[in-house]
Amino acid sequence: MQKLGSKALVKRMNRAAVLNAVRERGQIGRAEIADLTHISRASVTYIVAELLEEGWLIEQEKGQTTPSGGRPPILLQFNPDSVYAVVVMLGSERTAVSLGNADAAALYTHSVPARPEAGAAETVEIVSALIERALKESRVDRERVRGVVIGVPGLVDSLNSVVHYSARLPGLRNVDLGAQVQARVKLPVAVENETRLIGWGEQKFGHGQGRSPLVCVNITLGIGSCVILEDRMLFGSSYSAGQFGHMTVDADGSLCECGNRGCWETLASNAALLERARRAGAPWSENPSVEGILEASARGDARARALLRETATHIGVGIANIINIVNPEVIVLHGKVFGAGEELLRGVRHVVADRALKLPALNAQIVISDLGERAGLAGGVSLVVRRTLEAPLVRRENDLYL
Ligand SMILES: [Zn+2]
Repeated sequence: MQKLGSKALVKRMNRAAVLNAVRERGQIGRAEIADLTHISRASVTYIVAELLEEGWLIEQEKGQTTPSGGRPPILLQFNPDSVYAVVVMLGSERTAVSLGNADAAALYTHSVPARPEAGAAETVEIVSALIERALKESRVDRERVRGVVIGVPGLVDSLNSVVHYSARLPGLRNVDLGAQVQARVKLPVAVENETRLIGWGEQKFGHGQGRSPLVCVNITLGIGSCVILEDRMLFGSSYSAGQFGHMTVDADGSLCECGNRGCWETLASNAALLERARRAGAPWSENPSVEGILEASARGDARARALLRETATHIGVGIANIINIVNPEVIVLHGKVFGAGEELLRGVRHVVADRALKLPALNAQIVISDLGERAGLAGGVSLVVRRTLEAPLVRRENDLYL
Protein backbone atom coordinates (compact mmCIF):
# COMPACT_ATOMS: atom_id res chain seq x y z
CA MET A 1 0.00 0.00 0.00
CA GLN A 2 1.15 3.47 -0.83
CA LYS A 3 2.17 5.28 2.37
CA LEU A 4 0.54 8.58 3.13
CA GLY A 5 0.85 10.80 6.19
CA SER A 6 -2.40 10.96 8.15
CA LYS A 7 -3.00 14.61 7.16
CA ALA A 8 -2.53 13.90 3.46
CA LEU A 9 -4.74 10.84 3.79
CA VAL A 10 -7.57 12.79 5.42
CA LYS A 11 -7.30 15.43 2.73
CA ARG A 12 -7.50 12.82 0.00
CA MET A 13 -10.50 11.17 1.60
CA ASN A 14 -12.27 14.51 2.05
CA ARG A 15 -11.67 15.41 -1.58
CA ALA A 16 -13.08 12.05 -2.65
CA ALA A 17 -16.10 12.52 -0.37
CA VAL A 18 -16.82 15.97 -1.83
CA LEU A 19 -16.42 14.74 -5.42
CA ASN A 20 -18.69 11.78 -4.80
CA ALA A 21 -21.34 13.93 -3.13
CA VAL A 22 -21.39 16.14 -6.22
CA ARG A 23 -21.53 13.17 -8.59
CA GLU A 24 -24.30 11.50 -6.63
CA ARG A 25 -26.50 14.59 -6.48
CA GLY A 26 -25.79 15.91 -9.96
CA GLN A 27 -26.10 19.51 -8.79
CA ILE A 28 -25.42 20.59 -5.25
CA GLY A 29 -24.47 23.67 -3.21
CA ARG A 30 -21.53 23.92 -0.82
CA ALA A 31 -23.67 23.94 2.34
CA GLU A 32 -25.45 20.77 1.27
CA ILE A 33 -22.09 19.08 0.62
CA ALA A 34 -21.05 19.92 4.17
CA ASP A 35 -24.30 18.45 5.54
CA LEU A 36 -23.95 15.30 3.46
CA THR A 37 -20.29 14.61 4.10
CA HIS A 38 -20.01 15.92 7.70
CA ILE A 39 -16.98 17.93 6.60
CA SER A 40 -16.85 21.47 8.03
CA ARG A 41 -18.16 24.26 5.79
CA ALA A 42 -14.77 25.97 5.84
CA SER A 43 -13.05 22.79 4.65
CA VAL A 44 -15.71 22.22 1.97
CA THR A 45 -15.19 25.76 0.67
CA TYR A 46 -11.43 25.17 0.53
CA ILE A 47 -11.71 21.76 -1.15
CA VAL A 48 -14.29 23.01 -3.68
CA ALA A 49 -12.03 25.93 -4.61
CA GLU A 50 -9.22 23.46 -5.23
CA LEU A 51 -11.44 21.12 -7.27
CA LEU A 52 -12.76 24.04 -9.37
CA GLU A 53 -9.22 25.24 -9.99
CA GLU A 54 -8.15 21.75 -11.09
CA GLY A 55 -11.17 21.40 -13.36
CA TRP A 56 -12.94 18.53 -11.54
CA LEU A 57 -16.00 20.66 -10.84
CA ILE A 58 -17.87 23.37 -12.70
CA GLU A 59 -20.21 26.01 -11.30
CA GLN A 60 -23.79 26.09 -12.54
CA GLU A 61 -26.35 28.89 -12.63
CA LYS A 62 -27.68 30.10 -9.34
CA GLY A 63 -30.01 27.89 -7.31
CA GLN A 64 -33.31 29.01 -5.81
CA THR A 65 -33.52 31.89 -3.38
CA THR A 66 -33.74 30.61 0.18
CA PRO A 67 -37.14 30.95 1.98
CA SER A 68 -35.72 33.78 4.09
CA GLY A 69 -34.84 35.65 0.90
CA GLY A 70 -31.13 34.89 1.21
CA ARG A 71 -28.70 34.72 -1.66
CA PRO A 72 -29.27 31.56 -3.74
CA PRO A 73 -26.39 29.09 -3.52
CA ILE A 74 -24.17 28.54 -6.53
CA LEU A 75 -24.62 24.95 -7.58
CA LEU A 76 -21.69 22.72 -8.37
CA GLN A 77 -21.56 19.99 -10.95
CA PHE A 78 -19.04 17.30 -11.76
CA ASN A 79 -17.12 18.09 -14.94
CA PRO A 80 -17.40 14.98 -17.15
CA ASP A 81 -14.38 16.20 -19.11
CA SER A 82 -12.16 16.01 -16.03
CA VAL A 83 -11.74 12.26 -16.56
CA TYR A 84 -10.89 10.63 -19.84
CA ALA A 85 -10.27 6.94 -20.38
CA VAL A 86 -8.83 5.04 -23.32
CA VAL A 87 -10.36 1.63 -23.97
CA VAL A 88 -8.86 -0.96 -26.31
CA MET A 89 -10.99 -3.98 -27.24
CA LEU A 90 -8.95 -6.90 -28.59
CA GLY A 91 -11.50 -8.76 -30.71
CA SER A 92 -10.94 -11.74 -32.96
CA GLU A 93 -11.87 -9.67 -36.04
CA ARG A 94 -11.00 -6.06 -35.14
CA THR A 95 -8.87 -4.32 -32.55
CA ALA A 96 -10.75 -1.18 -31.59
CA VAL A 97 -9.65 1.83 -29.57
CA SER A 98 -11.86 4.57 -28.19
CA LEU A 99 -11.38 7.53 -25.92
CA GLY A 100 -14.28 8.80 -23.86
CA ASN A 101 -15.11 11.10 -20.97
CA ALA A 102 -16.76 10.28 -17.64
CA ASP A 103 -20.19 10.23 -19.31
CA ALA A 104 -18.84 7.57 -21.70
CA ALA A 105 -19.26 9.95 -24.62
CA ALA A 106 -16.80 8.81 -27.29
CA LEU A 107 -14.46 11.57 -28.42
CA TYR A 108 -12.42 9.30 -30.64
CA THR A 109 -12.81 5.82 -32.11
CA HIS A 110 -10.66 3.86 -34.50
CA SER A 111 -10.13 0.21 -35.34
CA VAL A 112 -7.70 -1.97 -37.26
CA PRO A 113 -7.96 -5.60 -38.42
CA ALA A 114 -7.16 -7.96 -35.55
CA ARG A 115 -3.95 -10.00 -35.45
CA PRO A 116 -5.26 -12.98 -33.49
CA GLU A 117 -2.03 -14.98 -33.81
CA ALA A 118 0.13 -12.12 -32.50
CA GLY A 119 2.32 -12.89 -29.50
CA ALA A 120 2.85 -10.68 -26.47
CA ALA A 121 5.47 -8.34 -27.95
CA GLU A 122 3.50 -7.63 -31.12
CA THR A 123 0.25 -7.16 -29.19
CA VAL A 124 1.92 -4.70 -26.81
CA GLU A 125 3.26 -2.85 -29.86
CA ILE A 126 -0.14 -2.68 -31.60
CA VAL A 127 -2.06 -1.70 -28.47
CA SER A 128 0.45 0.97 -27.42
CA ALA A 129 0.44 2.50 -30.91
CA LEU A 130 -3.38 2.62 -30.90
CA ILE A 131 -3.42 4.31 -27.49
CA GLU A 132 -0.82 6.89 -28.55
CA ARG A 133 -2.81 7.58 -31.69
CA ALA A 134 -6.03 8.07 -29.70
CA LEU A 135 -4.26 10.47 -27.31
CA LYS A 136 -2.82 12.46 -30.17
CA GLU A 137 -5.80 12.61 -32.50
CA SER A 138 -8.44 13.27 -29.85
CA ARG A 139 -6.34 16.27 -28.73
CA VAL A 140 -7.53 15.96 -25.15
CA ASP A 141 -5.43 17.22 -22.27
CA ARG A 142 -3.22 14.20 -21.57
CA GLU A 143 -3.20 14.99 -17.86
CA ARG A 144 -6.90 14.28 -17.76
CA VAL A 145 -6.51 10.83 -19.28
CA ARG A 146 -6.67 8.94 -15.99
CA GLY A 147 -6.34 5.41 -17.24
CA VAL A 148 -6.39 2.81 -19.99
CA VAL A 149 -8.44 -0.38 -19.97
CA ILE A 150 -7.84 -3.29 -22.35
CA GLY A 151 -10.67 -5.76 -22.96
CA VAL A 152 -9.62 -9.31 -23.88
CA PRO A 153 -11.79 -12.31 -24.77
CA GLY A 154 -10.49 -15.02 -22.46
CA LEU A 155 -9.37 -15.79 -18.94
CA VAL A 156 -7.95 -12.64 -17.36
CA ASP A 157 -6.55 -12.09 -13.86
CA SER A 158 -8.34 -8.78 -13.40
CA LEU A 159 -6.44 -7.66 -10.31
CA ASN A 160 -3.01 -8.18 -11.84
CA SER A 161 -3.94 -7.39 -15.46
CA VAL A 162 -2.55 -10.70 -16.69
CA VAL A 163 -4.05 -12.57 -19.65
CA HIS A 164 -3.90 -16.27 -18.76
CA TYR A 165 -5.47 -17.73 -21.85
CA SER A 166 -7.58 -16.71 -24.82
CA ALA A 167 -8.96 -19.21 -27.33
CA ARG A 168 -9.51 -16.34 -29.79
CA LEU A 169 -6.05 -14.82 -29.28
CA PRO A 170 -3.86 -17.90 -28.83
CA GLY A 171 -0.64 -15.85 -28.86
CA LEU A 172 -1.51 -14.43 -25.44
CA ARG A 173 -0.73 -16.95 -22.73
CA ASN A 174 0.20 -15.83 -19.21
CA VAL A 175 1.09 -12.37 -20.47
CA ASP A 176 1.30 -9.42 -18.04
CA LEU A 177 -0.25 -7.24 -20.70
CA GLY A 178 -1.21 -4.45 -18.29
CA ALA A 179 2.32 -3.93 -16.95
CA GLN A 180 3.90 -4.12 -20.41
CA VAL A 181 1.56 -1.59 -22.00
CA GLN A 182 1.80 0.64 -18.93
CA ALA A 183 5.59 0.74 -19.29
CA ARG A 184 5.09 1.98 -22.84
CA VAL A 185 2.29 4.54 -22.52
CA LYS A 186 3.09 5.80 -18.99
CA LEU A 187 -0.54 5.73 -17.90
CA PRO A 188 -2.29 3.39 -15.45
CA VAL A 189 -3.36 0.35 -17.48
CA ALA A 190 -5.76 -2.40 -16.49
CA VAL A 191 -6.75 -5.52 -18.41
CA GLU A 192 -10.18 -7.06 -18.07
CA ASN A 193 -12.18 -9.81 -19.71
CA GLU A 194 -14.22 -8.23 -22.53
CA THR A 195 -17.60 -9.40 -21.25
CA ARG A 196 -16.85 -8.13 -17.74
CA LEU A 197 -15.99 -4.78 -19.26
CA ILE A 198 -19.28 -4.81 -21.15
CA GLY A 199 -21.02 -5.82 -17.91
CA TRP A 200 -19.59 -2.79 -16.10
CA GLY A 201 -20.78 -0.63 -18.98
CA GLU A 202 -24.31 -2.00 -18.58
CA GLN A 203 -24.19 -1.57 -14.83
CA LYS A 204 -23.19 2.10 -14.97
CA PHE A 205 -24.74 3.31 -18.22
CA GLY A 206 -27.12 0.68 -19.59
CA HIS A 207 -29.97 -1.63 -18.62
CA GLY A 208 -28.15 -2.74 -15.48
CA GLN A 209 -28.35 0.62 -13.69
CA GLY A 210 -29.62 0.15 -10.16
CA ARG A 211 -30.32 -3.55 -10.72
CA SER A 212 -28.80 -6.55 -9.03
CA PRO A 213 -27.83 -9.26 -9.68
CA LEU A 214 -27.01 -8.28 -13.22
CA VAL A 215 -25.99 -10.99 -15.68
CA CYS A 216 -24.44 -10.01 -18.97
CA VAL A 217 -24.30 -12.55 -21.81
CA ASN A 218 -22.14 -11.74 -24.82
CA ILE A 219 -22.65 -13.99 -27.82
CA THR A 220 -19.74 -13.94 -30.25
CA LEU A 221 -17.96 -16.93 -31.80
CA GLY A 222 -18.08 -18.23 -28.22
CA ILE A 223 -20.20 -17.04 -25.29
CA GLY A 224 -18.86 -14.73 -22.60
CA SER A 225 -20.79 -13.88 -19.48
CA CYS A 226 -20.44 -12.22 -16.09
CA VAL A 227 -22.37 -11.62 -12.88
CA ILE A 228 -22.37 -8.30 -11.00
CA LEU A 229 -23.83 -8.23 -7.49
CA GLU A 230 -24.64 -4.70 -6.34
CA ASP A 231 -21.39 -2.95 -7.17
CA ARG A 232 -19.19 -6.04 -7.16
CA MET A 233 -18.07 -8.30 -9.97
CA LEU A 234 -18.29 -11.97 -9.11
CA PHE A 235 -14.73 -13.09 -9.92
CA GLY A 236 -14.55 -16.47 -8.21
CA SER A 237 -11.32 -17.73 -6.67
CA SER A 238 -9.41 -17.69 -9.96
CA TYR A 239 -11.31 -15.16 -12.07
CA SER A 240 -13.43 -17.64 -13.99
CA ALA A 241 -16.79 -17.22 -12.22
CA GLY A 242 -19.84 -16.82 -14.41
CA GLN A 243 -18.47 -18.69 -17.44
CA PHE A 244 -21.91 -19.91 -18.43
CA GLY A 245 -20.75 -20.57 -21.98
CA HIS A 246 -19.09 -23.73 -20.67
CA MET A 247 -21.97 -25.21 -18.71
CA THR A 248 -22.95 -28.57 -20.14
CA VAL A 249 -26.37 -28.53 -21.78
CA ASP A 250 -25.96 -31.74 -23.83
CA ALA A 251 -24.07 -34.64 -22.26
CA ASP A 252 -23.35 -36.21 -25.67
CA GLY A 253 -22.93 -32.94 -27.52
CA SER A 254 -20.13 -31.86 -29.78
CA LEU A 255 -16.63 -31.14 -28.56
CA CYS A 256 -16.04 -27.67 -27.14
CA GLU A 257 -12.71 -25.86 -27.42
CA CYS A 258 -12.46 -26.18 -23.61
CA GLY A 259 -12.24 -29.98 -24.01
CA ASN A 260 -15.71 -30.73 -22.65
CA ARG A 261 -18.66 -31.95 -24.72
CA GLY A 262 -21.98 -30.20 -25.15
CA CYS A 263 -21.11 -26.82 -23.61
CA TRP A 264 -23.78 -24.13 -24.07
CA GLU A 265 -21.55 -22.30 -26.55
CA THR A 266 -21.30 -25.36 -28.82
CA LEU A 267 -25.03 -24.83 -29.49
CA ALA A 268 -25.86 -21.17 -28.90
CA SER A 269 -22.79 -19.24 -30.10
CA ASN A 270 -22.35 -17.58 -33.49
CA ALA A 271 -19.87 -20.35 -34.39
CA ALA A 272 -22.66 -22.91 -33.86
CA LEU A 273 -25.16 -20.79 -35.82
CA LEU A 274 -22.73 -20.43 -38.74
CA GLU A 275 -22.02 -24.17 -38.72
CA ARG A 276 -25.77 -24.90 -38.99
CA ALA A 277 -26.04 -22.24 -41.71
CA ARG A 278 -23.35 -23.99 -43.78
CA ARG A 279 -25.46 -27.14 -43.70
CA ALA A 280 -28.68 -25.32 -44.64
CA GLY A 281 -27.96 -25.47 -48.38
CA ALA A 282 -29.26 -21.95 -49.00
CA PRO A 283 -27.73 -19.40 -51.40
CA TRP A 284 -26.48 -17.40 -48.40
CA SER A 285 -25.03 -20.43 -46.64
CA GLU A 286 -21.88 -21.06 -48.66
CA ASN A 287 -19.84 -18.50 -46.77
CA PRO A 288 -22.32 -17.54 -44.07
CA SER A 289 -22.18 -14.54 -41.77
CA VAL A 290 -24.47 -13.55 -38.92
CA GLU A 291 -25.33 -10.38 -40.85
CA GLY A 292 -26.19 -12.44 -43.96
CA ILE A 293 -28.50 -14.72 -41.96
CA LEU A 294 -30.25 -11.72 -40.36
CA GLU A 295 -30.74 -10.12 -43.78
CA ALA A 296 -32.13 -13.32 -45.28
CA SER A 297 -34.46 -13.71 -42.31
CA ALA A 298 -35.65 -10.10 -42.66
CA ARG A 299 -36.45 -10.86 -46.33
CA GLY A 300 -38.63 -13.72 -45.12
CA ASP A 301 -36.27 -16.57 -46.09
CA ALA A 302 -37.81 -19.62 -44.40
CA ARG A 303 -34.50 -21.43 -43.80
CA ALA A 304 -32.89 -18.39 -42.22
CA ARG A 305 -35.92 -17.86 -40.00
CA ALA A 306 -35.85 -21.50 -38.92
CA LEU A 307 -32.14 -21.20 -38.08
CA LEU A 308 -32.79 -18.20 -35.88
CA ARG A 309 -35.72 -19.93 -34.16
CA GLU A 310 -33.42 -22.83 -33.38
CA THR A 311 -30.78 -20.42 -32.09
CA ALA A 312 -33.38 -18.71 -29.87
CA THR A 313 -34.18 -22.11 -28.37
CA HIS A 314 -30.51 -22.85 -27.63
CA ILE A 315 -29.98 -19.40 -26.14
CA GLY A 316 -33.17 -19.75 -24.09
CA VAL A 317 -32.07 -23.09 -22.58
CA GLY A 318 -28.88 -21.50 -21.23
CA ILE A 319 -30.67 -18.40 -19.98
CA ALA A 320 -33.18 -20.62 -18.14
CA ASN A 321 -30.25 -22.34 -16.37
CA ILE A 322 -28.70 -18.98 -15.47
CA ILE A 323 -32.00 -17.78 -14.03
CA ASN A 324 -32.30 -20.90 -11.87
CA ILE A 325 -28.73 -20.54 -10.58
CA VAL A 326 -28.34 -16.77 -10.14
CA ASN A 327 -31.93 -15.47 -9.75
CA PRO A 328 -30.93 -12.25 -11.54
CA GLU A 329 -32.98 -9.08 -11.70
CA VAL A 330 -31.84 -8.45 -15.25
CA ILE A 331 -30.03 -10.32 -18.01
CA VAL A 332 -28.54 -8.09 -20.69
CA LEU A 333 -27.85 -9.71 -24.05
CA HIS A 334 -25.04 -8.58 -26.33
CA GLY A 335 -23.95 -9.66 -29.77
CA LYS A 336 -24.65 -9.33 -33.49
CA VAL A 337 -27.27 -12.07 -33.45
CA PHE A 338 -29.53 -9.86 -31.31
CA GLY A 339 -29.77 -7.57 -34.31
CA ALA A 340 -32.66 -9.94 -35.09
CA GLY A 341 -34.49 -7.97 -32.39
CA GLU A 342 -37.87 -8.68 -30.83
CA GLU A 343 -38.58 -11.89 -32.70
CA LEU A 344 -35.44 -13.63 -31.44
CA LEU A 345 -36.02 -12.21 -27.96
CA ARG A 346 -39.60 -13.53 -27.93
CA GLY A 347 -38.25 -16.97 -28.81
CA VAL A 348 -35.73 -16.79 -25.94
CA ARG A 349 -38.36 -15.61 -23.45
CA HIS A 350 -40.73 -18.35 -24.54
CA VAL A 351 -38.15 -21.07 -23.82
CA VAL A 352 -37.29 -19.44 -20.49
CA ALA A 353 -40.97 -19.32 -19.46
CA ASP A 354 -41.22 -23.01 -20.36
CA ARG A 355 -38.09 -24.24 -18.62
CA ALA A 356 -36.92 -21.98 -15.78
CA LEU A 357 -38.34 -22.05 -12.25
CA LYS A 358 -41.47 -19.93 -12.31
CA LEU A 359 -40.79 -17.27 -9.67
CA PRO A 360 -37.22 -16.36 -10.71
CA ALA A 361 -38.29 -16.46 -14.38
CA LEU A 362 -41.05 -13.94 -13.66
CA ASN A 363 -38.61 -11.66 -11.86
CA ALA A 364 -35.82 -11.77 -14.43
CA GLN A 365 -36.00 -9.13 -17.10
CA ILE A 366 -34.30 -10.27 -20.33
CA VAL A 367 -33.25 -7.37 -22.52
CA ILE A 368 -31.06 -6.64 -25.52
CA SER A 369 -28.31 -4.09 -24.83
CA ASP A 370 -28.84 -0.68 -26.32
CA LEU A 371 -25.24 0.37 -25.64
CA GLY A 372 -24.07 -1.92 -28.44
CA GLU A 373 -20.43 -1.36 -29.37
CA ARG A 374 -20.21 1.52 -26.90
CA ALA A 375 -20.55 -0.91 -23.98
CA GLY A 376 -16.81 -1.64 -23.82
CA LEU A 377 -15.95 2.05 -23.68
CA ALA A 378 -18.66 2.60 -21.06
CA GLY A 379 -17.25 -0.22 -18.93
CA GLY A 380 -13.69 1.05 -19.21
CA VAL A 381 -14.77 4.57 -18.31
CA SER A 382 -16.67 3.32 -15.27
CA LEU A 383 -13.58 1.47 -14.01
CA VAL A 384 -11.31 4.46 -14.53
CA VAL A 385 -13.78 6.83 -12.86
CA ARG A 386 -14.06 4.43 -9.95
CA ARG A 387 -10.30 4.32 -9.56
CA THR A 388 -9.91 8.06 -9.88
CA LEU A 389 -12.79 9.28 -7.75
CA GLU A 390 -14.12 6.55 -5.56
CA ALA A 391 -10.89 5.07 -4.29
CA PRO A 392 -8.78 7.52 -2.34
CA LEU A 393 -6.46 4.77 -1.12
CA VAL A 394 -4.71 3.59 -4.23
CA ARG A 395 -2.59 0.54 -3.60
CA ARG A 396 -0.67 0.51 -6.83
CA GLU A 397 -0.72 2.63 -9.91
CA ASN A 398 -2.61 0.14 -12.05
CA ASP A 399 -5.17 -1.06 -9.52
CA LEU A 400 -8.64 -0.44 -10.82
CA TYR A 401 -10.28 -2.74 -8.32
CA LEU A 402 -9.96 -1.97 -4.67
ZN1 LIG B 1 -16.66 -25.54 -23.18
